[in-house]
Amino acid sequence: MQMLEPSLVHHADLQSIHGQTTMSIPETHLPRVVVIGGGFAGIELIKKLANKPLQIVLFDRHNYHTFQPLLYQVATAGLEPDSIAGPLRKLFKNIPNFHFRYGLVTAIHPERNTISTSIGELRYDYLVIANGTKTNYFGNQKLAQLVFPLKQLHQALDLRSHLLQNLERALLVKDIDEQQSLMDVVIVGGGPTGVEVAGALGELKLHVLPKDYPELDFRQMDIHLIENSNRLLAAMSEQSGQKAYQYLTERFKVNVWLNTRLVDYDGREVTLSNGRKILSRTVIWAAGVIGNLIEGLPNEVITRGNRILVNEFNQVKGFDNIFAIGDIACMISEAYPNGHPQLAPVAMQQGRLLADNLLRLLRKKALKPFYYFDKGSMATIGRNRAVAEIAGIRIQGLFAWMVWLFVHLLYIIGFRNKLVVLMNWVWNYFTYDRATRLIVRPFVKEKMTT
Ligand SMILES: Cc1cc2nc3c(=O)[nH]c(=O)nc-3n(C[C@H](O)[C@H](O)[C@H](O)COP(=O)(O)OP(=O)(O)OC[C@H]3O[C@@H](n4cnc5c(N)ncnc54)[C@H](O)[C@@H]3O)c2cc1C
Repeated sequence: MQMLEPSLVHHADLQSIHGQTTMSIPETHLPRVVVIGGGFAGIELIKKLANKPLQIVLFDRHNYHTFQPLLYQVATAGLEPDSIAGPLRKLFKNIPNFHFRYGLVTAIHPERNTISTSIGELRYDYLVIANGTKTNYFGNQKLAQLVFPLKQLHQALDLRSHLLQNLERALLVKDIDEQQSLMDVVIVGGGPTGVEVAGALGELKLHVLPKDYPELDFRQMDIHLIENSNRLLAAMSEQSGQKAYQYLTERFKVNVWLNTRLVDYDGREVTLSNGRKILSRTVIWAAGVIGNLIEGLPNEVITRGNRILVNEFNQVKGFDNIFAIGDIACMISEAYPNGHPQLAPVAMQQGRLLADNLLRLLRKKALKPFYYFDKGSMATIGRNRAVAEIAGIRIQGLFAWMVWLFVHLLYIIGFRNKLVVLMNWVWNYFTYDRATRLIVRPFVKEKMTT
């Protein structure tokens, strides 16, 4: 069973160590910009505000930025977790008047311009909410306890360990059904994450696992991908969805169930809306996200998916000095009646524009509205195969896969990470190997000492 939000536990520890905490943020004559979240939006904003006459305070519940598009490669033993994360202190170490605080923001108090956090309360002049989204279980608490989400780094690591531990167990059991349930994987959600995980598991099953576990017959390992709608990759063209379907079913023999929902799961048996039952100890939940809401804003500014309604300048409706950017923000326009897609480029572009606009505010200049420059979308399905749509042009296969590799390398934070990821990919490509097949789970003293 997955661990629940260990990051919250860390913060509880932090509080008990500090007792009565003081944040040690110096008071200056400079306007204070408090940023909640060092994700794609938050870090682009801070990079552009560097060396400007402002004090910047960043809060994050992790001390690192996560490159979420590659989480699935950590979960499937393709990359080390460190290579897709960057410590936030290191990232901004040369910025004067910048302060990072490792803490969870728990409430916003617009009436007194302060926020409450796990390490105390802080005043702001400008508040930027950039705290993204969390996994949406659609209110099903039972599922939330049993399935594996893929939104944070520790979740990817936990999934990797779980998959490998199950194979170790599969070696020991005699019962065929039990063995099958330990080997089979069900993925819920046929968007880019679900498709990419299915492809990566297909690669593992074909090239890696049979060598590690010669006693197991991997022809018996089934990978199921469940999608509620009638096609994969709904945010891309029909053609790209069909191509992804073809790659998954032909190359990796993934069972793709379209027009199908998961209706029940008890930790061992999955029940689908078509009545079919699948035995599986691993259900990966890639079915959607919902805003990471922090209490304190009025209900009128919260909209579908727990997103915060903002105007064209990313100002939260009704507030002059509170902004929301990235996945958590919902800017409704004619072109985007449901808000922009929750993608990294939107978050980055909003972060950069808000930096400009904050400086404009200080100079009492008119603010610039946000226009999204859509560079396209893509998804990869195992080696040499991807689908991409760039500037209206659709590409598939090896060329799309190379574009995918290049774009992801470009956006990973830090030169070291780029190099490590590139080296891993080259190694994996030529050796058909996955270097990080480690089971790393919390050490349980009582069990391990006997
Ligand atoms: C598995 C997966 C694959 C994806 N693949 C792609 C892709 O291929 N291409 C693409 O464009 N997009 C992809 N996305 C979406 C993309 O990652 C998001 O659009 C992007 O991360 C949004 O940036 P953000 O800054 O709004 O939020 P995030 O990057 O999620 O950052 C939010 C930050 O806020 C912190 N935080 C949250 N709550 C609190 C709190 N209360 N207090 C303090 N800190 C807090 C978090 O720790 C986090 O660091 C993917 C997402 C996932 C999960």
